[in-house]
Amino acid sequence: MKTRKLLMIPGPTPVARSIQEQMGRETVAFGDPAFVKDFKELLEDLKSLFNCSGEVFVVAGTGTMGMEMAIANTTKAGDNVLIVSHGFFGDRFIDLCSRKGLNADVISSEWGETVPVEKIKEKLKEKKYAAMTVTHVDTSTGVCAPVAEIGKMMKEFPETIYIVDGVCATAGEPEDVDAMGIDILFTGSQKAFGVAPGLTMLWASGKALERRKSLGSIPEFYIDFEKWLPVMKDTAKYFATPAINMIWALKESVRIIKEEGIENRYARHRKTGTAMQAALEALGFRILAKEGCRAATLSNPVYPEGVDDAKFRGLLAEEGIMVAGGLAAYAGRMFRLGHMGNIDKHDMISVIAAVERALYRAGMPVELGKGVGVVQQHLIDS
Ligand code: PMP
Repeated sequence: MKTRKLLMIPGPTPVARSIQEQMGRETVAFGDPAFVKDFKELLEDLKSLFNCSGEVFVVAGTGTMGMEMAIANTTKAGDNVLIVSHGFFGDRFIDLCSRKGLNADVISSEWGETVPVEKIKEKLKEKKYAAMTVTHVDTSTGVCAPVAEIGKMMKEFPETIYIVDGVCATAGEPEDVDAMGIDILFTGSQKAFGVAPGLTMLWASGKALERRKSLGSIPEFYIDFEKWLPVMKDTAKYFATPAINMIWALKESVRIIKEEGIENRYARHRKTGTAMQAALEALGFRILAKEGCRAATLSNPVYPEGVDDAKFRGLLAEEGIMVAGGLAAYAGRMFRLGHMGNIDKHDMISVIAAVERALYRAGMPVELGKGVGVVQQHLIDS
């Protein structure tokens, strides 16, 4: 019998059966009254779950489209943009902004650390920035940025639109658009929402919507807020075909989130992150992100001396667990383990037990059960 595969890369994440069923439904017309109602209810729920008094957009696309949509609707060529980068996905904004003719200034941290808020503030004082981007959880490093603290500081810079990349965070790490002073938050369906890839969700504050208006006509078409606003206000309207089955799937994900309770979901992610990271450390890995800025949604363990990345991940896949490799300078030195969305205690135990077996088969000295014991203890204590 084949071992079942658990998809533990940092997105796409495992898709629950009830969500899969929504994707398998017979597709209806986008004007179908039942779909129009489902879509409307989904948008209302998304606004209230993330406390956004502005507007939410749900459009076919991925996280990268969210990045582009955020920039396209808040800046014009020649504007200054500040990019706060904690890794590979923070850096992705550099090319994206440069292509648009923006002046992109970057402040980066060492991989595994965050840029101090005070340093961001000093930089913002240097010139007028139209927008600033912060990646809530950079998937390349497992670093979680203090988005609430940054949001508080941003009150001193009302002319700068505060953009948060929530691709590896939203629905797993606490986010509150209005209370945190976030102007644009975006994510993709395949991460902590536990839906297959295919949807971009973007929340925009009133200030961000006003900024879009003040820009007049923009070069982008499909990702223009102004094109989608009528649809988001009245889901019976058409601009471009909504991803009907994906929207149903997201609605089911939101139903699961509401059933769990968003605060409980955040607490579960935090406990999962802490347990997995402690277990990996007990097995001899070093967690790349420094304590105090570790994500709850994924772990980035650096290999102990003597572990070959390709061999280890191959063995781990044979043991039934799919993980991702390290990026850039950490390629071959680290793996990336997602633990966000709809994963449970059984998954956690299975993952860490398979890591132990893979280490053992790779010839590493490993005390079988050590990592499992740590996870068990966390599960019992919490
Ligand atoms: N930002 C972050 C933090 C991400 O983790 C990713 C994807 N891993 C992206 C942006 C890009 O998202 P996508 O691959 O869905 O385009």
